[in-house]
Parts: sequence; structure tokens; C-alpha cells
Amino acid sequence: MLKMKCERCEIDSASLFCLRCKRAICGKCYEDSLGLCSDCVNFKKATEWDRRQLVRILTETVRISTNNLEKQKCHACEILRYHLLFTLKVLKNLGIELEHEDLTGLRAPVHQLRDAVIPLIIEAISQKKLAADPTSWPRI
Ligand SMILES: [Zn+2]
Ligand SMILES: [Zn+2]
Repeated sequence: MLKMKCERCEIDSASLFCLRCKRAICGKCYEDSLGLCSDCVNFKKATEWDRRQLVRILTETVRISTNNLEKQKCHACEILRYHLLFTLKVLKNLGIELEHEDLTGLRAPVHQLRDAVIPLIIEAISQKKLAADPTSWPRI
């Protein structure tokens, strides 16, 4: 049988394959429960941290927007509307990413946020009966 060196440490002989980077990996450089090499485990952890932060920021955005929509002076705010539509776009992209891999169970909170943002947008848009497309809004 042909022997292959681990493509990560380049010391021990490889006996496994990383599911993410597809390199041949030795037992020492492999995380069995995830099917990933040590490098990819670190990448996965960093990505998860980033996404958790993003969900935290989006949750805060939805909370603040909900409060602001209750105030009379924010009813006609174009920035708030635009911000909500942008939030929805970020949530949509995040949802697509999480369909492939549910990073630390973020799928459910992202779906909940999307469900919360849509009525806010409808409320914000209906205030001035504006179209959903921000480019068609009248300039102030
Ligand atoms: Zn190795
Ligand atoms: Zn890998």
C-alpha cells in the first residue's frame, strides 16, 4: 500500500481525509467528531464566532427598530426603512449559509429574526405608502 505523508504536519503518515480541505491527514491532526483537520476546526470556530456576533448585532437592530417605529418622529424615517431592508438582506444571506451548515444552532434565531423584520418593513413602508424599492422613494 502506498504511504502518504500528512499534508498538514508533514511528519506522520496520513490515514484520513479532511472533509473540508480534502487533504490527507494523520490521526494526530484530525478531529474525529467533526471529520476535519485541526486547521479546519480552527477556521470553523472562527466562522462560528463571527456569525454569532452578527446575529447579536442583527437582534439589536430589530429591537431598536421596533422601539423607533413606535415613535412618531421615526415613522417617516428613510434611514430606518433602508436599514430594515438591509437587515433583511443580511438575514437572507445568512439563512442560505446556514442551510449548508447549522453553525452552533443559529438557524432557528436567524429564521425568527427574519420573521420579525418583515412586519417591521411592512409597517415602515405603509407609513408613507412607499414602494418596497428604496430607489423609488422621493428624495428629501
Ligand atoms: Zn499530521
Ligand atoms: Zn482540513
